[in-house]
Amino acid sequence: MSVGDGSAYRRRQMVAALEQAGVRDRRVLDAMLEVPRHLFVPPRWRTRAYGDSALSIGEGQTISQPLVVARMTEAAAVGADSKVLEIGTGSGYQAAVLSRIVRFVFTVERIPRLAREAKKRLDALGIENVSVKVMDGTLGWSAQAPYDAILVTAGAPEVPRPLLSQLAEGGRLVVPVGDREQQEMVLVENRGGRFITRNLGGAAFVPLIGRFGWEGDGEAHR
Ligand code: SAM
Repeated sequence: MSVGDGSAYRRRQMVAALEQAGVRDRRVLDAMLEVPRHLFVPPRWRTRAYGDSALSIGEGQTISQPLVVARMTEAAAVGADSKVLEIGTGSGYQAAVLSRIVRFVFTVERIPRLAREAKKRLDALGIENVSVKVMDGTLGWSAQAPYDAILVTAGAPEVPRPLLSQLAEGGRLVVPVGDREQQEMVLVENRGGRFITRNLGGAAFVPLIGRFGWEGDGEAHR
């Protein structure tokens, strides 16, 4: 996926900062060395693409901070044979990072324009193991289940129930849960049909809007 535009140096600096911050999984670090994050942000933010911050991608949405992408990918503990579902395609960056590590990524986005643009970026980079769909991701993508990991990249009022039933045996769900501004990153593991939950620390995501998420106007669906 070499883009040959001199951005490799900035990516190496970004990854060195991730290592400093405690990211250890070599597959995650290598994937983030490879994926050109500056091509996933609007042109006006390109010079800031390798800083450790979330950036606006339009429609009131953001591309997540690199450290958050790294930590969520690490927590998913996926490998070369894994099949992964991402809820919240956004720019497509998280899906591109996952695509370097796993066998296949299914990713869903509720805003059609973001899904279209993400698909265009992934195609332009020759990434063929990602499928993008427009839908309410709080319902999961049952036709492709079960998944070895599910990453939710928007903040949920509670763990969306349909996602639990789409986790493979031993599978992991990583989801920020809390209110509309602040959440705790929660890791749920399916151990023989028992769901073991662990708190991974604070997070701040845009809201997950949908049937098992928040309503567009601020109330959670129940
Ligand atoms: N993973 C993205 C990336 O790498 O750029 C960043 C995701 S952004 C923080 C959250 C995304 O979740 C937004 O694009 C938003 O439209 C989307 N979203 C919110 N609720 C959703 C839902 N129910 N289903 C699918 N996407 C949803």
